[in-house]
Amino acid sequence: MTAIRPPAKDPAPPLLRVRDLAMTFPGRRRSAPVRAVDGVSFDLAAGETLGLVGESGCGKSTTGRMIVRLLEPTAGTVEYDGREIGRLSQRALKPLRREIQMVFQDPHSSLNPRQSVARIIADPLLVQGSSAAGARERALELMELVGLIPEHADRRPHEFSGGQAQRIGIARALATGPRLVVADEPVSALDVSVQAQIVNLMERLQRELGLAYLFVAHDLSVVKRVCDRVAVMYLGRIVEVGAKDRVYGAPAHPYTRALLSAVPLPDPAAERTRERITLLGDPPSPAAPPPGCSFHPRCPKARSVCRTEAPVLRLLAPGEPREVACHFPEEG
Ligand code: SF4
Repeated sequence: MTAIRPPAKDPAPPLLRVRDLAMTFPGRRRSAPVRAVDGVSFDLAAGETLGLVGESGCGKSTTGRMIVRLLEPTAGTVEYDGREIGRLSQRALKPLRREIQMVFQDPHSSLNPRQSVARIIADPLLVQGSSAAGARERALELMELVGLIPEHADRRPHEFSGGQAQRIGIARALATGPRLVVADEPVSALDVSVQAQIVNLMERLQRELGLAYLFVAHDLSVVKRVCDRVAVMYLGRIVEVGAKDRVYGAPAHPYTRALLSAVPLPDPAAERTRERITLLGDPPSPAAPPPGCSFHPRCPKARSVCRTEAPVLRLLAPGEPREVACHFPEEG
C-alpha cells in the first residue's frame, strides 16, 4: 500500500501518520465478525484539515475513535509526532493525551448534565493535574475564546442551545492545548444556520491556534468548505484521497463521483442539468464484504476483474496529489 501524504511542498514529517489501521468487532452470537475498518492509512500535517467522508457505517467514526484511543485498534499503527502511541504505556501516553482531543457529534449528550459548564471545560485539566482554581480560570478564558459568556460559567448544559453546547464541547477539547483535534460529525446535529457559525469558529481557532483537524463527516458540502484534503471511505477502506479541489473538481473513483453527484449545486441552472449517479442497493454488510472490489455490486463501471481482484490505493498519475483504489479510475 502506498503512503497517503499531504502535498510534497511540506517537507516536515506529518503530525499524524496512520498505517494499516484496522478494527474488527466480534459478531453477536453466531454472526461473523464485523470488519469496521480494514487497513486505513493516511498522513495529516500540522495545521492541516483532512476530511474523512463516506456513508453511515463506512468506518470513518471508528477510525477517529481509534486515533484518540477511545477504541483499541485490532491492527495497524498510529504515530503522533514521530511516536507510535499504541506502544506507549498509560503513563507515557498521558502527556500525549493533552495534544490529541476530540469534539463529538451530539453536543448535549457528550456533556455531563449535572456539572457546571466551567467544570466540564476544566475537567481535562483537572485530570492532567491542574489546580481547581487554575483550571477554572482557564475554563473562563476558553469560554470567551469560543464565543460564550464567562458569566454563564455556573450554568448547566441544558440551559444552552445546541450551537452553544457545541461551543462548550470545543472549549473542553481545547482546554489542554491540543495540536490535533478529531472532530466527529461536529455540526451534523445542528441547524443549518448554526452549522455555519460553528464551522466559522473552528476555522478561526485553527488559524489562531495552528490546529490540525481530522474532520469526520458525511456532509460533503461542509467538508468542501473546511478541508485541505479529503479521504473518501467505503466499507472500511479509503477509496480515494487527495487535494480537495482535485477530488471535488474531477472525482476519480466511481463511489466519489456518485456521492458528489448528490450534493446540491448553488446554481439552479447547473442543478437542473447535472448528471446524477444513482447507486444500486445499500452498502453490503461489513460482516460479509463482497470479494474483489467491495464496491463492485453497486458500481456502474464494474467489470469481471472487479469481482475477483481488490484494487489497492495508487497514485492516479505522476505529480497528481491523489490516490485512488479502482481498476478503472476516471482520469479527466
Ligand atoms: Fe468500480 Fe471496478 Fe473501480 Fe471497483 S475497481 S470502483 S468495481 S470500476
